Amino acid sequence: MLNLYNTLTRKKEAFKPLKGRKVGLYTCGPTVYSYAHIGNLRTYVFEDILKRTLLFNDYQVNHLMNITDVGHLTSDADTGEDKIEKTAKKEKKSAYQIAEFYTKAFLKDCEKLNILPPNIIAPATEYIKENISLIQVLEKKGYTYKTKDGIYFDTSKSKDYGKLANMDFDKLNKTLKAGARIELSPEKRNITDFSLWKFSSPNEKRQMEWPSPWGTGFPGWHIECAVINLKYLGNAFKNETFIPEQAETIDIHAGGSDLIPIHHTNEIAQVEAATGKKFVNYWLHGEFLILKDLRMGKSTGNVILIDDLEKKGYSPLSYRYLVLNAHYRKPLEFSWQALNNAQQGLNDISNFIYHCLLKAKPNSSIKLSPVLIDMQKEFKKAINDDLNTPQALAVFWKLIKKYYKEKLDPKQTYQLASIFDTILGLGLDKIKVFPLPQEIQLLNEKREKMRKSAKWTEADKIRKEIEALGFSVNDTKEGTIIQPKNKI
Ligand code: AMP
Ligand code: ZN
Repeated sequence: MLNLYNTLTRKKEAFKPLKGRKVGLYTCGPTVYSYAHIGNLRTYVFEDILKRTLLFNDYQVNHLMNITDVGHLTSDADTGEDKIEKTAKKEKKSAYQIAEFYTKAFLKDCEKLNILPPNIIAPATEYIKENISLIQVLEKKGYTYKTKDGIYFDTSKSKDYGKLANMDFDKLNKTLKAGARIELSPEKRNITDFSLWKFSSPNEKRQMEWPSPWGTGFPGWHIECAVINLKYLGNAFKNETFIPEQAETIDIHAGGSDLIPIHHTNEIAQVEAATGKKFVNYWLHGEFLILKDLRMGKSTGNVILIDDLEKKGYSPLSYRYLVLNAHYRKPLEFSWQALNNAQQGLNDISNFIYHCLLKAKPNSSIKLSPVLIDMQKEFKKAINDDLNTPQALAVFWKLIKKYYKEKLDPKQTYQLASIFDTILGLGLDKIKVFPLPQEIQLLNEKREKMRKSAKWTEADKIRKEIEALGFSVNDTKEGTIIQPKNKI
């Protein structure tokens, strides 16, 4: 039984999809105006664990992710510049070039972190007509009003507004007013109201703008996600036209916890107003990566990139390992020391896998012993308990200890470790045992001769030469074991 914590109900619930074994999963994609930082990527790793856990439980997952390539403004109050247009000016490129460049960079980082790619990646700019069609329905139903700068959604008309953030309309309005980032523009009726369609400023020619029944402009960030959800998972569009009666509820929607009070709250308001149906059954949110007591954020500038980790000699997967050591609903403080420990932990696990491979050629059809079957159950129990990755990793370490203590079979142990890794995604399947390069073999033979004639200083010099070539040297009772230092 898979249990997941649902932000909407504020409790762990048994997961039940709407259509048998088929699950629709939506994850909010990045705003592509700069590189994703490792904070953003913590959220994508958490969502990857969610998806892998669903797959592990034999669900077929249809994973959809948007790319926010237009409409995300520098202020949550629907004021300020479009983040992508702003970067385009700064970098002297077109807005489309910026979006394309940072989308590719994001996907590359995800690949390095062994994050499984979504089934559908949907850039918002490709669904403008659908956005207009959904806004027209909201307009007909009386949820919208027009101001000088756009078409707005009147949140006071929304039923249960703020339910995701566990606040009612008044409380959410008061909370947002108290927050420094929101100021009430004179024409907005309520502080929580948000733009569905923003008009292009008369003083400036935008690169990304489209005609609409209300005037030239672009869609708001919240409606973009609603439309993409409704199109692919809610089956509510016939070509580009929104058909409210057709809309279906979606199984899971996930993102970072900062999205709860505004972005996701507003997605719910629009969709439920337009369809009269529940938008999403399970809402899952990951907590922040913290750097020096502050949330890592593009706008505050306290960011670290995957590239920065690599430049310091860490593998991106060591960051994945670090992330998995914390539960996704707890804040995680980043430090270089913690990353260093994570790299060490990952190296130890990969050395163990290498050892199993040296001992026995794996064969996928072998049966696991009862001890290992019990460990598999223990692992599944941990991961099915709201994605408890720290506990799942503890089971992995228990397996390693048990292997040595109880002299478990290396083939079977390797097999179970591979099963664990279908969820953890640490890239252990990439570890292969190859014959050592000839240069290393010759050095090893030379060293053995020195050792036999007790020439320890010379032997030690050769060991250093081997190590400098990226291999580790271990003298054991069973002979010298030489293996690549970085296996993944
Ligand atoms: P953005 O590119 O700003 O739209 O954000 C992409 C994703 O990263 C969203 O799901 C955010 O909630 C998430 N996110 C932003 N900052 C952090 C952080 N410091 N830690 C974890 N997730 C974050
Ligand atoms: Zn979104």
